[in-house]
Amino acid sequence: MSVKEQLNSLLHQLNEEDVTLVAISKKKPVEDIRSAYEAGQKIFGENRAQELVKKRSQLPEDIQWHMVGHLQRNKVKKIAPFVSLIHSLDSLRLAKEIDKRAQQNERVIDCLLQIHIAQEKSKYGFAYEEVEELLQDKAFQNLTHIRIRGVMGMASFTGNTEQVGEEFKSLNTFFKKLKQEYFAGNDHFSELSMGMTNDWKIALEEGSTMVRIGRLIFGER
Ligand SMILES: *Cc1c(COP(=O)(O)O)cnc(C)c1O
Repeated sequence: MSVKEQLNSLLHQLNEEDVTLVAISKKKPVEDIRSAYEAGQKIFGENRAQELVKKRSQLPEDIQWHMVGHLQRNKVKKIAPFVSLIHSLDSLRLAKEIDKRAQQNERVIDCLLQIHIAQEKSKYGFAYEEVEELLQDKAFQNLTHIRIRGVMGMASFTGNTEQVGEEFKSLNTFFKKLKQEYFAGNDHFSELSMGMTNDWKIALEEGSTMVRIGRLIFGER
């Protein structure tokens, strides 16, 4: 199937649910992104700042660009002028840098807290306790130019669907706890970004509000 056909079939399935699709276009050419755009997709995600900036310059301006991969601090200034959501906020130092660059661009940048929920070891993402420490940290609370919109997590890379379901469920439970304890009355804290090509159906069952799908739309990388 073509990119358009894949996208339309996916959108049809997602339409039943109230969920945002972020089309992950990393390593794919701008022509593929343009096809998806012409089929109606306006939100795309990349995992490298450089690639994101380059593609943006070649594509329509009304595309909303999301950053989904680990973000190095020295790359923040490249994307700060326009990025619409950073899914991978994973340290206080990064938060401070995003805040600083947002301020320089006279904007507020929306971010998700990336949480490590998989069994595999990873350098990236907060543990649950670390998220609460961050939210209680005055230095973090004083940042005025980032807005926390929710959380993001990636499940274990496994065919064990029960395991994946448990991980998503626990992230949703934690998301609700944060909402209640730290973001009560804050309507902006509303996004639970989970689900990729291999596990988006499970993620939807467990309450995802935003799925990040690449290969299913654009083919293998
Ligand atoms: C690559 C990537 C995706 C999309 O993965 P697919 O398996 O292609 O759907 C989603 N989220 C993040 C953080 C990624 O790096």
